[in-house]
Amino acid sequence: KSTRWSVEENNPEHLPICQHKDELVQAVKTSPFLVVTGETGSGKTTQLPQYLCEAGFCKDGKIGITQPRRVAAITVAQRVAQEMQCTLGKEVGYQVRFDDCTSQDTLVKYMTDGCLLREILSDSSLSQYSVVILDEVHERSLNTDILLGLIKKIFSGSSKITRGRSSPLKVVVMSATLETDKLSAFFSDCPVFTIPGRLFPVCCSFGSAVGPKDTESIGYVKEVVKVALDIHGSEPAGDILVFLTGQTEIERACDLLFEKAECIDYRFDVQDQTVDGILILPLYGSMPTDQQRQIFQPPPPGIRKCVVATNIAATSLTINGIKYIVDSGFVKQLNHNSRVGMDILEVVPISQSEAQQRAGRAGRTSIGKCFRIYNKEFWEKCMPEYTIPEIQRTSLTAVILTLKCLGVHDVIRFPYLDCPEERFILEALKQLYQYDAIDRRGKVTHLGELMVEFPLHPSLTRAVLKAAALGCQDLLLPLAAMLSVENIFIRPGLLFSQPEKQKEADEKHSALAAKTGSMNDFARLLSVFQLCKSSDRPSAWCKENWIHWRALKSAFSIETQLREILLRLQQKKDFPVETFDGNKSELFRRCLCTGYFTNVARRSIGKVFCTMDSHGSMVHIHPSSSLFDQEAELNWVIFHDVLVTSRVYIRTVCPIRYEWVKDLLPKLHEVDVYELSSVARE
Ligand code: ADP
Ligand code: MG
Repeated sequence: KSTRWSVEENNPEHLPICQHKDELVQAVKTSPFLVVTGETGSGKTTQLPQYLCEAGFCKDGKIGITQPRRVAAITVAQRVAQEMQCTLGKEVGYQVRFDDCTSQDTLVKYMTDGCLLREILSDSSLSQYSVVILDEVHERSLNTDILLGLIKKIFSGSSKITRGRSSPLKVVVMSATLETDKLSAFFSDCPVFTIPGRLFPVCCSFGSAVGPKDTESIGYVKEVVKVALDIHGSEPAGDILVFLTGQTEIERACDLLFEKAECIDYRFDVQDQTVDGILILPLYGSMPTDQQRQIFQPPPPGIRKCVVATNIAATSLTINGIKYIVDSGFVKQLNHNSRVGMDILEVVPISQSEAQQRAGRAGRTSIGKCFRIYNKEFWEKCMPEYTIPEIQRTSLTAVILTLKCLGVHDVIRFPYLDCPEERFILEALKQLYQYDAIDRRGKVTHLGELMVEFPLHPSLTRAVLKAAALGCQDLLLPLAAMLSVENIFIRPGLLFSQPEKQKEADEKHSALAAKTGSMNDFARLLSVFQLCKSSDRPSAWCKENWIHWRALKSAFSIETQLREILLRLQQKKDFPVETFDGNKSELFRRCLCTGYFTNVARRSIGKVFCTMDSHGSMVHIHPSSSLFDQEAELNWVIFHDVLVTSRVYIRTVCPIRYEWVKDLLPKLHEVDVYELSSVARE
């Protein structure tokens, strides 16, 4: 079998957008706001910024393009740099959280929506830009939705447009799917430019592996692997794209696909990833960029490519040559869980519109096939018609603080494209008040202004600032960095189904905790950071201790950046300074309590703990914690996050003393949320 791969597909001059180059440039010139829509893969993201650059828009400033996903920002920038024949980071660059690859010369800048939001904080007229393109708006990420509202607020109304700018900002909003009327109406009925699509028919079939009763099953990993192998064995040439939920599931699926090969451990080395005529490529957010690049390369002659990806491949990235889709029917999504009152990353059925997007990936250049592993009943009963925008299902704490710092006091009547429920806004205000980021009247405090500078969860930021005030940031900064990367500990039992290896890894991981002298998961993370950093051969140290070297390497870089942010803030006057006259060995945990008093639990009976917030949820310690099975010795604990299955598990746990949180806990209950929003209601 050979995979034919057409040259045209890889040539930007054959993309649908090309025929509309002049009209598009003209449309941007004549209107301050423009909505552009077109089928995924038509060339919007990679081509439009180049057209605008060529047409001279770069003379007055940069062209900025936002992406909801960091991987998309990075790989697209790589591609455009290549097409424009320049070095990445020069004329074309990217910026994502903790990774800035731009320079003085950068004209076309790809970035995450979160990065542009931060830029508005320091430069609200976006004076560096001549054009801002909000891309992938149909994804409706929280930050993109906030940007839409902010840009509408700042730039509509003629007087403000030119303030601090030499020429008015051009705003382009790009979306792969409909909803263009709504977007156009949002920006005072601005013009809509539609790039005529070409999509070949995709024949979709339903399977029988997942039905309405399987919403929590994880059997879908095995099933998608089976279907992919069936396609490989029986279908004509053409590459396969498998949609799965997240890194762990993708790695497990790749392991299953690899099973026939002699144990290839691609977590340590990238070796040959071909088995039996099939080239297996994982694709997920936290993957290293050199490996991401491989996704776009055509496979060697006679080899079929099989990409196992998260939703990122649905619209953000287009992989050429795909003819077959395997759709698991699930996605990993951050949702506010009202049972525990926290945001939780959970696996949920995708929406029907999402399923259509996934299928469409097989029909870009010829007719394709989509194999859904779920049945029709699952489609009808479990899959909602549309995906709910993130702003209506996640915590708003961080963005509300950003809005407040930008002088948007009335956060209830902010121009949202779709309004979040008022109780979510009130909940965010309450949290900000608990962290001392806003006062009783809803106004940002000095501490709040410091907090907004950190691209971290507010509770972690609060703990870091406390530590800095006490002069022990060397303990908290590495911890904050470690909590910002995923999957530090390798769990071979989960991935390779190798119980003996898992036992070895478990022993190594608990030894690391024991070394710190105090058994807790925060201290264990800190100790991994410190031990590895001081090791002569850090990557070998990681391998020996079953630690992800790549994850740790990014933690090192994040720590440096957090340190820089802190130093900058400390140089300003009125940075808080406090003294501490307690036991020094408690210092670390007491700093943590300042931020994590919202996540306190107390053991009630046996292994069951009860959270101290208004939800009073019953929780268990997760088996991955170094405190698992030692519950009997514990009383009060704080935790970093929770995992909800049939039970609610707390992960990354640390024992504390009641006295440390005694004065903070009342804050969880005393607040009158309506008073906090009083500014909004005046
Ligand atoms: P749209 O934004 O309309 O969905 P894109 O501009 O992302 O379309 O994609 C246009 C083309 O560029 C596609 O054929 C895609 O495969 C290709 N492409 C995008 N990024 C890369 C990359 N990093 N390497 C190779 N090809 C790429
Ligand atoms: Mg795009």
